[in-house]
Amino acid sequence: MSEPFIEDEMTRAKRGITWIRLEEALRGTGCPVCTEIERTEKHYLEGMLYEYVLDPGVRKKLHQQHGFCTRHAKLALATELTLKSDGLHLATMFETVMDEHLQLLEKQAKRVRESKEVTTKRKRKPPSGAVDAGECFVCAFLKESENIALHGLVYFSDDGEFIEAYRRSRTVICFRHTQMVVQEAADPIWAGKTSARVLDVTLEKMNRMKVDLSNFIKKHDYQSDHDYTRDELDSYLDVVNFFSGQMRL
Ligand SMILES: [Zn+2]
Ligand SMILES: [Zn+2]
Repeated sequence: MSEPFIEDEMTRAKRGITWIRLEEALRGTGCPVCTEIERTEKHYLEGMLYEYVLDPGVRKKLHQQHGFCTRHAKLALATELTLKSDGLHLATMFETVMDEHLQLLEKQAKRVRESKEVTTKRKRKPPSGAVDAGECFVCAFLKESENIALHGLVYFSDDGEFIEAYRRSRTVICFRHTQMVVQEAADPIWAGKTSARVLDVTLEKMNRMKVDLSNFIKKHDYQSDHDYTRDELDSYLDVVNFFSGQMRL
């Protein structure tokens, strides 16, 4: 009788969505973790404008956090254009948020007015009552997705197939996400899964990037024939993108 086929944990994991997304990201450029967060971000914003315009939960978050962060405000506006909307989705979402904000500002203006009268009489300064914007809820959601994408990468960091795909790929794990991998190597739960192989490949890629960058600078010399390779011409972009990533949450 033949042995029953028992699928190991890694084979099973490679049928999962994390592996599929990681493979997709490795076919592109930039940082694979950032690429996955960007994909989620786009999907989330489109979903929010399409389906959750009337969702009281979204409005509550928008009110509590006083709108989006600058990045997500710009992206939400751009998403409206992609959806060929004249702005009605965002207008609807912000209508009640505006009402609540008007009430807040009215109270604050009243307090400031009254404090002027109080300070002249009693020489006492009341608390300002100013509020902070708080963390943007899209950013908060993306931190969760970053966590999942990063741990997916850490999970496969000792897998031969992944390491080879990463080596062949034009992607480079960005500074921030490389540091997160290093951090996980000291984490009691993730240390066992975190392999230095993924850092070694990143190092190889960065060494090549450094050579291209130096050649790019050197070939600017007037005595040079200015015969740049494509990688040399792109080297400064690759370096800037490595340090900043596509996503600095
Ligand atoms: Zn990244
Ligand atoms: Zn944000």
